[in-house]
Amino acid sequence: MEEDEDTVMGESRKLPPLPSSSLTQPPPPAHAHHKGDPTLAPSFLPSAHKSQSPGSEPFPPRDSTLLTGMAPPDRVKMSDSESNSIDNLVKRDSLVEINSDWSDEEVMGRAGLPVGSLATGLCYDVRMRYHCEVRPTSDVHPEDPRRIYYIYKELCRAGLVDDAESTRPLAPQTLKRIDARNATEEEITLIHSEAHFAFVKSTQDMTDDDLVYLERTRDSIYFNRLTFASSLLSTGGAIETCLAVARRQVKNAIAVIRPPGHHAEHDTAMGFCLFNNVPVAARVCQNQLGDQCRKILILDWDVHHGNGVQKAFYNDPNVLYISIHVHQNGKFYPGGDEGDWDHCGAGAGLGKNVNIPWPDQGMGDGDYMHAFQKVVMPIALEFDPDLVIISAGFDAAAGDVLGGCFVSPACYAQMTHMLMTLANGKVAVCLEGGYNFRSISKSALAVTKTLMGEPPDRLLKTAPTRDATETVGRVMNMQAQYWRCMYPKPPQHPVWADRLHDVLREYQARQLYDSFKLTPLYIYRTKISKSFENQVLASANYHERVPLVVIFHDPPELMGHPDPVTNRLEAHNCWLADVQKEYVAWIVSKGYAVIDVNIPKHITHALVCTFPTPIENFSGPRLTARDIQATGRYEDEDENRPTATEELANYLWDNYIDFHEKREIFFLGIGSAFAGVVNLLINRENLYKRVNGIVSFVAENPVRAVASSTQVWLSKWYRDNSLVFVSESHGLWNNQDRKPSKRYGKLYKSNKTSLNEMMAEHQPQVFEWLAERADEAVEETEDEANQDSPMKE
Ligand SMILES: [Zn+2]
Repeated sequence: MEEDEDTVMGESRKLPPLPSSSLTQPPPPAHAHHKGDPTLAPSFLPSAHKSQSPGSEPFPPRDSTLLTGMAPPDRVKMSDSESNSIDNLVKRDSLVEINSDWSDEEVMGRAGLPVGSLATGLCYDVRMRYHCEVRPTSDVHPEDPRRIYYIYKELCRAGLVDDAESTRPLAPQTLKRIDARNATEEEITLIHSEAHFAFVKSTQDMTDDDLVYLERTRDSIYFNRLTFASSLLSTGGAIETCLAVARRQVKNAIAVIRPPGHHAEHDTAMGFCLFNNVPVAARVCQNQLGDQCRKILILDWDVHHGNGVQKAFYNDPNVLYISIHVHQNGKFYPGGDEGDWDHCGAGAGLGKNVNIPWPDQGMGDGDYMHAFQKVVMPIALEFDPDLVIISAGFDAAAGDVLGGCFVSPACYAQMTHMLMTLANGKVAVCLEGGYNFRSISKSALAVTKTLMGEPPDRLLKTAPTRDATETVGRVMNMQAQYWRCMYPKPPQHPVWADRLHDVLREYQARQLYDSFKLTPLYIYRTKISKSFENQVLASANYHERVPLVVIFHDPPELMGHPDPVTNRLEAHNCWLADVQKEYVAWIVSKGYAVIDVNIPKHITHALVCTFPTPIENFSGPRLTARDIQATGRYEDEDENRPTATEELANYLWDNYIDFHEKREIFFLGIGSAFAGVVNLLINRENLYKRVNGIVSFVAENPVRAVASSTQVWLSKWYRDNSLVFVSESHGLWNNQDRKPSKRYGKLYKSNKTSLNEMMAEHQPQVFEWLAERADEAVEETEDEANQDSPMKE
């Protein structure tokens, strides 16, 4: 396992220390030998917050209470027997029973705004803070019991909670309390194994030494004797919150609960999580409410992938899990490839798992909005859930050093607002991670206000980064197999499809042969690829002593009008713009030689056969699973392209270009393929002295600098012997104050933007320039031949 990201300290260390009391060893908790019904709260636990005011208590008694396992006496308002009688528990917990405190009038008869006038629910219980480290080290653990207290306090401060400590005046309609209760074993084992339940339960009877030892043997989790009790409440809180929302007893709700849940797996506690609160709640809702709550969307915006949630519903067609998280190629916690975009569910659940894996930290509002607009909302609308549960970790929030992202409270509000359009507004928010007290408080407040009806704040930044657009594009392409709303769709039978760039090159080759008798040059290859066929074409006189123009170009540009609905490109709505052909025509008409080099952006591996030949009988390189998978996906430019291009340029130079010492050589570079020429000039000592001129067209790709520390005259030579057309929209022209470096060659600002337009526009200038230099060179060569003098420099 990689170094655990979750154990890195968050900013919580910067917060003022607690007015802590004694750090003496705690006496064994009263329940140490309690063998009663696990569904009952341990007898020493105070009743829920209703009987007192959590905001009014002294600062969270992290040390004293947690270490001693005893609550401050003033919090116990009911006697032990009262607070824990089954009757009382049932009464307190039964939001749904006929005699519950939720009256029919509250739910029904709201003329005009039957849902809008319902209250938003809040679940919070001080007893969830009792789970803490049994022997805190000097570093405060990021999953700190104060996390939920700070969120609760923030809600009070905003006047949203009817609490003695709340700021006045209160909101016209305050949050409606939803009591947490202990989840039952029966409920928890809907998701977890009985052994796992028994294991967590067993920690309540362990010695401190045992607990500390246990912590060392597990992945990012700590225990004390109250861990089990807090975990039952956390899961029970999630259940009650989701039930209250699904039953429309509240408009929507937020559960400020801990310990979190989304990493907990069937048989494993990990990543600060013991029981997986949200999946348990989802299953309970499905079981209790049937068709009223069949389809559930779990949206997980915690910065970590919710491996436990994904596993719980991987085969389930009725639970759609969408997670936006930092993946870092499997290096970010919880690690591995499960959080990658190609994990889409299995069996009946295929397509009901959507991972949006950010390649790195540092993602912000524009990125999350982009993911929501392009993937989350279209898929969620198509899924049409009966209930939305947000696994709401706030560790992607700005200020959380553990997450390292920059999501603002306004963005959390916007995401909540968008999700509220689903499931008739039935949204239950359940806290997961988030370790900077200030960030989680502000974020949770923004989410809660939105749930209550306040419009989200405006966003400061809405543009996505390139990392985000690429990731989201890939996810769309992957999910297009399962969702009608996801376009563009990849080819259905990708294995036997031809890449269009290969088809076009074949067509170009035929055209260049028919018109100018250009034929392929033999290029030695270590592997066969369709993309290399016809890659280098040459006129018949390529070896004669005439001026030679070597053209390095990208595959020709396609122009098309995609179908407005399907985004599909159709053959009759596409055009191939091939201005290069006019350049070849002119070169041939002048009697010069030409070598035309096509640099594919992607090497098509082994797809030589276009019919379903059995792969075993195929004599070319074997298709790997990755090749097959890769075909039909969106693909970037091959990362090896610059190196491969330079190798090809070297090979051509040695075998086909440098034939005669005194021949005139010109290079024409179109698009990013030009990089091969540049590297040749830089890396081959004194090669530039053999070249008479270079023309290059740059639209979007970087303008290449030609400079070398060992060849001091190279830059000057380049400036004197080049013609570099750069599109007017290129970033090079943005810097008004500084003149571009001479290392970029003789620059011309083109009034066009695409390569094709530029090549058409500047054709006369290029032809004139090439002709002058070619003729000049021919004259000079003749003079030199007469004088028998050495080459000019
Ligand atoms: Zn997290």
